[in-house]
Amino acid sequence: MSGETADGPRYIGPKRPDRTLGGNHDTFWDWCGKGELRLQRCGNCNHLHWPVTVRKCESCGEQAFTWEPMSGRGKVVSWTTFQQDYYRGLMAVPYDTILVELDEGPLFMSNPQGFSWQDLSPEMPVKLAFLDAEDSAGTFKLPVFERG
Ligand SMILES: [Zn+2]
Repeated sequence: MSGETADGPRYIGPKRPDRTLGGNHDTFWDWCGKGELRLQRCGNCNHLHWPVTVRKCESCGEQAFTWEPMSGRGKVVSWTTFQQDYYRGLMAVPYDTILVELDEGPLFMSNPQGFSWQDLSPEMPVKLAFLDAEDSAGTFKLPVFERG
């Protein structure tokens, strides 16, 4: 199966490599399941954390986090197209990956939805969407980005 269609953007499909689960990851994916992108903000110094793997604030060392909803707005700062089949046919190649700078600051790696690398330009505004995805643990909502 080719990931590229003659007249439209690439469609990656619902099958994905396994997510990291456990601890803060479960909370992150629970919020995604409710259609919200939430990241941890330190209750002491306000530092916003991504990825969600931290146990204590990387800025001040406190452990008081709140899960703050992101606006879902951002801009593309970089991108790449994968030609190599790293996942043994799970994901059709080629596929595009984008690095989005969220309006709140963190850099977030994702996939474009509804557009391909040919459409990309630096600073291109994008907005959050959720894609129905599936890994070996089950179905989940994957945060992706559409043209903003
Ligand atoms: Zn802090």
